[in-house]
Amino acid sequence: MPIEGRNLAEAAQSYFAQSEQIPSLVRLAAEQRGDHWSAGGLLLQHLPEGEEGRERLHTRLDHPDWPHVAILGGSVKPEELTDPSLPLDDLIWRLFHEEEELRTLPATKLSRGCRCDPDYVRSVIARFPVEEREAMVGDDGLIRVDCAFCSSSFAIQPQELT
Ligand SMILES: [Zn+2]
Repeated sequence: MPIEGRNLAEAAQSYFAQSEQIPSLVRLAAEQRGDHWSAGGLLLQHLPEGEEGRERLHTRLDHPDWPHVAILGGSVKPEELTDPSLPLDDLIWRLFHEEEELRTLPATKLSRGCRCDPDYVRSVIARFPVEEREAMVGDDGLIRVDCAFCSSSFAIQPQELT
């Protein structure tokens, strides 16, 4: 998928619109304070109704509430996203306090990582018919698979698949 947009937030927004087809608003900001950088972001998405236990097939890209919510979320200021002294609940209240219902969930600690796993990649490639696997072998005699999320590259020996 091409990367589209004037900045990272627009590129992410365009990804959600085109690939995931989920109405999304992304705002990102970074600010240097002395020797440290602060960065923050807002990801606002319209989740499908009755999503639990079902596939995300029924997201409406034209839900009547979305433009209103997107305008409120889009009014967030960069300095609000990078202010370490502004609790997230306060920020959400500032943006959406006029809404009928507003719920927040406990924060989840973020960590860097990807779920890709060399053994899993090998098991996926092993399921292809032999002829197709042979067509995947590159000039160096290896099957190379790149993770689309973290850009890790896996080199697989075709012999180890049989
Ligand atoms: Zn990965």
